[in-house]
Order: sequence, then C-alpha cells, then structure tokens
Amino acid sequence: MRRLTLPMILLAVAACKPAGGSPEAEPAAADLPAAPAGWHRPKLIDAHAHLSPFAIPVIRRIMDENGVEYVVNLSGGNHADGDIEYSLKLAKVMEGRVVNCYNPDWYRIDEPDFGVVEARRLADSVAKGFRCLKIAKALGLFVRHGSGVLLEVDDPALDPLWAAAGRLGVPVYVHVADPKAFFRPCDETNERWAELQVHPSWCFHGQGFPSFDELLDAFERVVAKHPATTFIGVHLGNAAEEPDRVARMLAAYPNYYVDIAARVPEFGRHPPEKMRAFFVRWQDRVLFGTDVVFSPRHIMLGSTGTDRPTPDDARRFYQAHFRYFETQDRQIEHPTPIQGSWRIDAVGLPAEVLEKLYRKNAERLLKLGSGPGATPPAPSPF
Ligand SMILES: [Zn+2]
Repeated sequence: MRRLTLPMILLAVAACKPAGGSPEAEPAAADLPAAPAGWHRPKLIDAHAHLSPFAIPVIRRIMDENGVEYVVNLSGGNHADGDIEYSLKLAKVMEGRVVNCYNPDWYRIDEPDFGVVEARRLADSVAKGFRCLKIAKALGLFVRHGSGVLLEVDDPALDPLWAAAGRLGVPVYVHVADPKAFFRPCDETNERWAELQVHPSWCFHGQGFPSFDELLDAFERVVAKHPATTFIGVHLGNAAEEPDRVARMLAAYPNYYVDIAARVPEFGRHPPEKMRAFFVRWQDRVLFGTDVVFSPRHIMLGSTGTDRPTPDDARRFYQAHFRYFETQDRQIEHPTPIQGSWRIDAVGLPAEVLEKLYRKNAERLLKLGSGPGATPPAPSPF
C-alpha cells in the first residue's frame, strides 16, 4: 500500500474545496444565466389552493389550461361535518391530481384533550389519503377559548398536533398574520384600501388583535420547538415585506419551507437582484402556489375585488407568475391588481431553480408524481 505523504494529503484537501473560496461559498445569483429561450416549463404543482368538491369542472378546466398537473387543496376540512369524505371524493374523481390537507376543528378547543384528539384525527385523514396539515390565519387572530381569551399560536395545547405531523411525515402549512398593511389604520391612507373596502374583515388594526410581530415571533417559536416537523410558511413565510426575515428563518431552521402564494405583488416590489438572489439561495425550500379559490359560484385569484374573475382571468393570472419568475422584464403588471397599482421587475430565474420551484420541491415534500419517496394515492373508501 502506498504511504500518503504530507504534500499528497494537502493536494487531496485542496481538491475537495470549491475553487476560489470557503466551502460555504455559493455562486452569486447574478452569475447564473436565466432559463434559455427554448426551455420547457415542467408540469406545475400548484401547492396552495382552496377547492370546493362541487367545482370539479372549473378546477379541471383551469388546471388543464394552465399546465397544472397537481393542485394542493389546503381546505380539505375535518371530521366535524363530513368534509373529509367530500375531499376524498374530489381527489378520487380528479384521479389523484388533487391532494388534500387536514384542517383542525377549532370548535373543540376547550376540550382538555384537544391536541391529542386532533393528532389522532390527522393520522386518520393521512391513512385515508390526506398529505398535509393546514393552519389558517384564524389561529392567532380569531380562535378563542369559551372564556374569550385568544388561543396563542404557540400554545402548548397544539404541541401533540405539530409532533404528530412530524411522525406522520406530512408537512404543516401555516398562515399567521396577514399583509403588514392590514395591521395599519384601515382608511384611505392605507395602500391596500381598495382591497380592504371589499374585505373589511381583513383589517387587524387595533380591536384587540395581536401585532404582526407578535404573531410571527410565536410562529417562529413553534418551528424552533419542533425540528422533526416540516413547516411551510405560506405567503412567503407570512412576511413578503421582509425577505431578510424569511431568509433568516430558512437559515436557522432546516425544517422550514415557504410558498409564494398571493405575494408576488408584495415581494415583487423588492429590487429584482435581491429577490433573484433569494430564490437562487433557497431554491430547495420554496414552493410554487397561487392561493386560487375554486367554488361553483366563485373563482378567487390570490384576492378579489368586486368583479367576478373568469377562467380567462385565471390564464392571465398564471401567465403573470410565469413572466415574473422566467423573464427579466421590467415594470410589468403583477398577478393581482386589487393588491395595489404598482408595477414590478421580474427575476428571470435559472432553469434548474424554476424546475424546483414549479415542481420538484412540492413533489418531494408531498410525495407526488415521480419524485423520490413518491407513493401512489392512498386507496379511497369510495
Ligand atoms: Zn390560502
């Protein structure tokens, strides 16, 4: 056997280091070419939607027209009123292209075994084919004990539920707080006044609501306390106004992911170089989602004004997302006009980053399609 000499060892160590820097050095986002003109967009996974089981024709049409292969229904419901069975039927009729998330039954919050029973119900829904848990913004803003006291986002009563999701291997989507503008005075001085006039219940200024920071800090404590559970902070980690804060959490917690749903208009206001660097740096941890709502009488595309969107509007909505992520166009229209009249600059991501954003990350987390760990849809009782 040849003896290793010191120069040989030094040579071997040098060969293991990436050229020109420390082992942590990442390529600068600006150095990476955007997807080339002939690049083909993969079939999408829209990882953030709300679907009514009674809207199958419109769901199918809009998915097919926009190249969406799978859609994640964050409103799968719970056992209280039979929603689970309807959601399973929806998944079956859609041949597994719809994946459902379980929603806790907050009406039971005052029962002493709340967390344990909800954990058991989550496990039951997963056994039947559900793939995720979704917590709506009601937690922290509206869910109250019978005494009138708000349930805190990091209340230990919920620990069994977070832990069960980790054991079951299903991600937990969490929506806490809302756009920062909704926590400011809701009058004509508010930049989201047009939207707030249509949705006055989205105003969280005063009225005894916790602050934006209190809600975000409590959510971070949950993510930190449950490292074996995968959390997805929806709406760019619920803090599209602060990508540095989102990046800090992504760096601190390997179990933390984000989706981009309904926040292109907001994070699109940051300099495109900054957002491009963000999406390149965190390319394995960001999911594409839109926050579309499809019900028999109503389509919502990220938000709504007084008009009623059509499937043609849905096409424009998806195209506006593609333009932001795939081109380097300047001063373009964002997907959701009601969120503000400003324009945004596109980020033109590299092809491999787009593949992960549009498909691979969700494929992996939700065990869909042909990704690693993919499983066929669980047998449905119907
Ligand atoms: Zn949503």
